[in-house]
Amino acid sequence: MKPKFIFVTGGVLSSLGKGIASASMGTLLELRGIRVTFMKFDPYINVDPGTMNPFQHGEVFVTEDGAETDLDMGHYERYAHTMMGKKNNYTTGQIYDAVIAKERQGEYLGATVQVIPHITDEIKDKAMKVVEGYDVAIIEIGGTVGDIESLPFLEAIRQMRSDVGAENVLYVHLTLVPYLKTSGEFKSKPTQHSVKELREIGIQPDILLCRTESELTQEVKKKISLFCNVTEDAVITLRTVETVYEVPLTLHQERLDEKIVERLNMWTAAPRLDRWEEIVRQIKTPQLNVTIAMVGKYVHLTESYKSLNEALIHGGMKNQTRVTIRYIDSEEIERSGIGNLFEGVDGLLVPGGFGVRGIEGKIQAIEYARTRRLPFFGICLGMQLAVTEFARNVCGLSEANSAEFNNSTPHPVIDLMPEQKKITSKGGTMRLGAYPCRVVEETWAYEAYGSAEISERHRHRYEVNNDYREALESKGMIFSGLSPNGLLVEIAEIPDHPWFLGCQFHPEFKSRPWAPAPLFNRFIRAALEAHRSVEEAP
Ligand code: GLN
Repeated sequence: MKPKFIFVTGGVLSSLGKGIASASMGTLLELRGIRVTFMKFDPYINVDPGTMNPFQHGEVFVTEDGAETDLDMGHYERYAHTMMGKKNNYTTGQIYDAVIAKERQGEYLGATVQVIPHITDEIKDKAMKVVEGYDVAIIEIGGTVGDIESLPFLEAIRQMRSDVGAENVLYVHLTLVPYLKTSGEFKSKPTQHSVKELREIGIQPDILLCRTESELTQEVKKKISLFCNVTEDAVITLRTVETVYEVPLTLHQERLDEKIVERLNMWTAAPRLDRWEEIVRQIKTPQLNVTIAMVGKYVHLTESYKSLNEALIHGGMKNQTRVTIRYIDSEEIERSGIGNLFEGVDGLLVPGGFGVRGIEGKIQAIEYARTRRLPFFGICLGMQLAVTEFARNVCGLSEANSAEFNNSTPHPVIDLMPEQKKITSKGGTMRLGAYPCRVVEETWAYEAYGSAEISERHRHRYEVNNDYREALESKGMIFSGLSPNGLLVEIAEIPDHPWFLGCQFHPEFKSRPWAPAPLFNRFIRAALEAHRSVEEAP
């Protein structure tokens, strides 16, 4: 069978769910036994999304092969059993970079190098590569139709229909259909306009996904169908639901998957939705509750912690628990102290981060968790700060710090590895992607993973300084996970505590609704135990 492509574009404000919609389509196809993969083209010029500010762009998702990618890669991995990598996410910058490198090497034999055909060919080439080994590639074009920046991508996907055959290409367009309460009606104009824009470029969408707050009436569907030249049954409601994991089920009710396989002329079994229904049931009907305080810097934009939030939800699902996350700005702690910020909190999570801002507030929060015996989970920077706090307040090294924040500290308990010190350029110079880790038996880490050999994803420059390992161990910190050669600390714990663990890697990236990351699962259990002990206290 020839590979098939589903191209997903979006109108104004379609950032309200293009990624989740694409991921959900993938789930439905996968449940029908189709081998599906994903790809996203991002229209910005950054060659390396890793250097972008999370405030503007949300989380940087890290793949097994160490690519720093768009957070939609995270959605794709969490919905379908597929692994994303470098080849699944390209920015305009990366495409131009590749074309310019080819031009410098003389590959175009002196031709005038142009957007059409050279840039568009490069884009199509990447799409053709990604589908290898799969039946269908769902390819999302970032941004909004009508933006100057996304034009080369739209032109490339327009060409693809004649390149690979009309029966192998499907254009799905996502738009917002606002509901005006005052007049009590849905507004189809924004949809009409973005479809018009798309048709001017030469793309006639086959399916429209309409983002709405409630079910579209048949009348509105009819109108959209007429104005947008899309059959009525291909106008699909994508309404807001209680949990994002419900989206595949609602799209199935709208018969989206049926439509897709019909249009792409694929013969498949009926989808087995029971597994996915079980996931949604688990999220919607928890028996218990815990509150987790997350102390970080990007707390005002929770998109920056997308995978983390999801991993906490997954950990809750396994424990029949609803996890409420209380975001606390670490600078708030610096300004006004802990006060009653942690009242009613059952566990503290300090996530990854970069830069000195808010560091001392996080250290105060960690000290609170350590001394008040509140379950603590530190991830990457969170782990580094837990080591720093322990060095300062337990080992008596009051000036201990990470060299990232104080280059002249007498006690750089967190420092660059010697080989890292030579690197001067920013971007792509971190320890990135999956690395193996050996777990020590009879530790919390081992209890959680049930295995001595694990592999998790990394994204950091600094490491625990081996010169301080003995001092830290002599006061009761243990290093329960190490790199196979023993030189890099991967996991640190304080056993004399209800649960206190930090890891240098980011376990949240591998958490799935059907398989929660073990450390999150265990952390939520610890928080539940803390919650119970408070309730049972006299
Ligand atoms: N800033 C720290 C480092 O580079 C931690 C990074 C992170 O938390 N992802 O090592």
